[in-house]
Amino acid sequence: MDETRKKTIKGIKIRSLNLIMLSISCILYIFLICATIQSMHQYNDMIATTNQHIACEEITSLVTNGSNYLTEQARLYTMTTDTKHLDNYFTEAHITRRRDKALEQLETYHSDGETHAHLTSALDNSNSLMEQEVYAMKLVSIAKGYDITALHEDIQNIPLTAEDKTLSPEEMTTKARDMLFGGSYQDAKAIIMEDIAYFVDSVIEHTTQQQAESSTVLKRSLTRQQILISILFIENLIIFFLIIRLIINPLQVYVKNIREDKRLEFVGSYEFKYLALTYNNIFELNAANELSLRHQAEHDPLTGLINRGAFDHLRQLFHAKQSPLALLIIDVDKFKQVNDGYGHEIGDRVLKRVASLLEDSFRSTDFPARIGGDEFAVILTDLTCNPKDLVLSKINAINHALTNPEDDLPPISLSVGGAYSENGFTEDLYKKADTALYQVKEHGRCGCRFYEESMERI
Ligand code: GH3
Ligand code: MG
Repeated sequence: MDETRKKTIKGIKIRSLNLIMLSISCILYIFLICATIQSMHQYNDMIATTNQHIACEEITSLVTNGSNYLTEQARLYTMTTDTKHLDNYFTEAHITRRRDKALEQLETYHSDGETHAHLTSALDNSNSLMEQEVYAMKLVSIAKGYDITALHEDIQNIPLTAEDKTLSPEEMTTKARDMLFGGSYQDAKAIIMEDIAYFVDSVIEHTTQQQAESSTVLKRSLTRQQILISILFIENLIIFFLIIRLIINPLQVYVKNIREDKRLEFVGSYEFKYLALTYNNIFELNAANELSLRHQAEHDPLTGLINRGAFDHLRQLFHAKQSPLALLIIDVDKFKQVNDGYGHEIGDRVLKRVASLLEDSFRSTDFPARIGGDEFAVILTDLTCNPKDLVLSKINAINHALTNPEDDLPPISLSVGGAYSENGFTEDLYKKADTALYQVKEHGRCGCRFYEESMERI
């Protein structure tokens, strides 16, 4: 390979391009994966904060419902003294524990010191309120004359003030009802609900803020994903375009050129240009070899004239053409004697001399050929009439030159038989020219005759 020519090739290397595109794709995919993971995290955060938000709403309602239920059962007991309400109260207070459970759950949520103080205050007030409720229910139970030891231990455990112990059953009932229906009870409940509302509002505000932050980050990472996907899409388009330009188009051009037996153009990537350079070098070498082989196959190595094979090929060609032509068959007279007398080398030189005279004497549209040892032929084409007289004078001139050699070659002469056809190289044309040649040989050699029908009868 011609290294300097190789160095002059300029073009994009598919190998390098492949590496660059692969690296870009890998980087983009890594970024895309990171952005997707980040989006997933933000999404999960948003779900968590949203769930917290919903839970806060539910807890508030649980606290309210639980608290109202206790109030309701305590009040009903003081009004009806039906112990069923007492059971309901303590079931709610110690087993169902809606209010307490909700408040405990609220404690797990993030809050600052001030907010948490409200929750603690709500819990304390709530416990005080419960004590007040139990106290009121104890008063009613005593007033009703129930066996306190048979009632819930909370009722048993809560001590009555010395003052209340002195009250009559009616006064006890009245006091109990005052404790649960009075303004101070309502105020205490309102304070508890306000504290809880303050705490819940603060937690909700915090979660809303978190939601907003997560949403902003999520939006940002989704935008990043969109940008990355767009870049990947553009990269794919570029790869697609480059494949067409650097690979598919050159392949099509190269296939076309190879089919048409042409040199390859320098198109496409570096690799294709390099391929074209290699192919063209081989192409040129092959063309030169083919030319040389063809010349060798068609020409006689001694005289340089076309050989018998090529002559036969021309015969077929002009047989089909059907245009006027003449055929001369030429034989060197007594050539054996030249070989025998002067040697083969001189004999070869004589044959070369004959060939050169034939080439010089006829036109470029005529085809002189060596068809045997000392036998030559000339096909005269592009004729408008029988060239007999012209040929006679040309052969005479050649014979004159050969019989009077100016160099060291021995004198020789040619016998020539000719035949003319108006319809191309007919089947019998060769035989006719050979018949005419035979006539010349028979009549003393060194001359030229054209075929006539009368010759057949001799
Ligand atoms: P005629 O006048 O009847 O043609 O007699 P001739 O001696 O020429 O006889 P013929 O044409 O039969 O002889 C051809 C001779 O040409 C025979 C052969 O030895 C010789 N010859 C054939 N090819 C070559 C060649 O390449 N070089 C040389 N020097 N001689 C050749
Ligand atoms: Mg001869």
